[in-house]
Amino acid sequence: MEFILNKIKEYNKILIFGHVRPDGDCIGSQYGLARIIKETYPEKEVIVTGEASDYVSFIGSPKMANDEDFKDALGICVDIANGDRVSDQRYKNCEYTIKIDHHINVDSFCDYEYVDENSPACAQIITEFFIKFKDELKMTAKAAEALYVGIITDTGRFKFDSVKRETFNAAGLLLDYGVDLGYIDNKLSVETLESLKLRGYCLTHFETTKAGFAYLKMPREIIDEFGVTNEEAANQVTAISTVKGCPVWALFIEYPDDIRIRLRSRGPVINKLAEKWGGGGHAKASGASLGSWDKLPLFLDDIDEIVNDYKNNNPDD
Ligand code: AMP
Repeated sequence: MEFILNKIKEYNKILIFGHVRPDGDCIGSQYGLARIIKETYPEKEVIVTGEASDYVSFIGSPKMANDEDFKDALGICVDIANGDRVSDQRYKNCEYTIKIDHHINVDSFCDYEYVDENSPACAQIITEFFIKFKDELKMTAKAAEALYVGIITDTGRFKFDSVKRETFNAAGLLLDYGVDLGYIDNKLSVETLESLKLRGYCLTHFETTKAGFAYLKMPREIIDEFGVTNEEAANQVTAISTVKGCPVWALFIEYPDDIRIRLRSRGPVINKLAEKWGGGGHAKASGASLGSWDKLPLFLDDIDEIVNDYKNNNPDD
């Protein structure tokens, strides 16, 4: 962490990168870190670049940097496990690059990498970075809000078993900087009418396999019929998270170039399977690629094998 702080001090221009289809932890980490740096070193130029997210746009919306911004710059990639998932591939044009992440460390793509696989959120790591150098760094209410949102979105609001005492320590410290919990809950919990109606559809149209895998197919026609954004459609993965007897569930969402699998578990480890299907992620939250609908039966065979193994070894679950 000291090395990262020294690099931040060394550079006058710092770009902060996130991943494709950014989530709350990505945007929260980007803006949290950017705001800490800007508040501490107002003379530095700090640019948050990459894709935006409607869902957490109240934190901030990155815009694509200009080509000349990369010259003599330090690039910091947050919450990204694989180089090809950086939403602005020009990160390679920075003079020096750093990765700060909490995913399983499968790909090395920066000059210096700080990865804590045990941390449930990248925003927790950034908060710990702040805590370590508290005498030197400055926090603002908006930076604290961004980091708090990062922590709660990636922990399912402190629900997942990856949550540690350190998670609460970090969140508690952020509250001291004036995080408004009611405001955040309002922003994260209120859904559009279209999205709620889609949830109704999801709850009545999901399917289950004999082994115990719950899944939902989200073809383009359904996304268009309900008039929701891709992000709203993708968020429906949570709709089928509590089906008794189905410890693994997924949403298959059709994009113009691929069918993405958002895979979740409350028991079996799923990231190895996700890797086999062109993706990766955490033990209990992964993403992968189906390619085309005709591959679905093959995928169901693979996942059923994992669910059956798990149930044989955990009969009470
Ligand atoms: P998602 O369903 O997109 O929210 O992804 C869940 C987790 O899996 C996130 O932590 C992602 O970083 C990771 N993930 C998703 N897609 C991929 C991929 N194609 N390759 C590697 N990791 C992925």
